[in-house]
Amino acid sequence: MVVESYAKGEHAMGQGHGWEGAVLKLLRAKDFVFTVTGAEDVTGHYRRVHLTDGGMLAATGVHPTMWVRLWFDNAGTPHQRAYTLVDPDPAAGTFSLEFALHEGCASDWARTAKPGDTIEATVHGTDFRRPDPEPSHVFAIGDPASLPALNSLLDALAPAPATVWFESTETLDGLPFRTTPARHDVRPVVRPVPRQDSGAHLVAQVKAALPDLLKASPEPYVWIACDTATTRTLSSYVRKELGLPKQRVHALGYWRAG
Ligand SMILES: Cc1cc2nc3c(=O)[nH]c(=O)nc-3n(C[C@H](O)[C@H](O)[C@H](O)COP(=O)(O)OP(=O)(O)OC[C@H]3O[C@@H](n4cnc5c(N)ncnc54)[C@H](O)[C@@H]3O)c2cc1C
Repeated sequence: MVVESYAKGEHAMGQGHGWEGAVLKLLRAKDFVFTVTGAEDVTGHYRRVHLTDGGMLAATGVHPTMWVRLWFDNAGTPHQRAYTLVDPDPAAGTFSLEFALHEGCASDWARTAKPGDTIEATVHGTDFRRPDPEPSHVFAIGDPASLPALNSLLDALAPAPATVWFESTETLDGLPFRTTPARHDVRPVVRPVPRQDSGAHLVAQVKAALPDLLKASPEPYVWIACDTATTRTLSSYVRKELGLPKQRVHALGYWRAG
């Protein structure tokens, strides 16, 4: 099982991007500057920003669910957050980013992003291990922050069918799902506002349905990308209680609930 925690946090001012930037440099992370070429609101809480890649895609190549670490400015302090590439095009040197909007520096940057704005990026930690054998069925649990990765995953694993539990405060209408109704069963799960249940409703929905669905799938693959706590709870559940082998489970917390 790939259960990763995504390191994030504020960074002391100093050379470059502070201590974490220095560590990433030692690990041969690559720094690039992206330039905004356009942006549009997809829904009231979801915004797409188009960018040129500063030479990144030619240097790094592309893989499904690929993400980058962006360095946002938080009143003079570098603020690193991860975002997933949408439609990366190495020949053109372009891609888009899709932002689930909420409180926070990254969201604030996206809300006002306009042509000519720039943002620094580091490429480190992103990878994609293709499940082998190919999944007979994908079981995915995510939310608007992981929608770009979910779209990329389902595209990469086509023609595998999928069941998706998708937690959101808003209706799913207008969100840029690239799912196909014939193959993908998307099950909306309402996220309470404020989210005081720590993902309990989402966990309950998954637990109520997943065991029986797994019995009908000879080579299941489970992909979990929710807030960190829910991701941990669900990954532990599918591994320990449902007994899925580690190579059939991918779990990565995408954000930390406040
Ligand atoms: C590998 C990876 C890829 C990712 N790709 C994307 C992507 O393509 N698009 C995308 O929108 N996000 C993506 N995320 C999630 C994104 O990095 C986080 O949501 C991040 O915390 C946003 O930073 P911020 O500065 O806006 O808010 P923060 O300063 O981190 O948080 C501010 C407040 O907002 C809350 N918050 C943070 N994120 C969310 C959220 N997603 N939903 C609800 N409340 C939230 C926090 O609990 C806190 O109270 C990805 C994360 C990872 C690990």
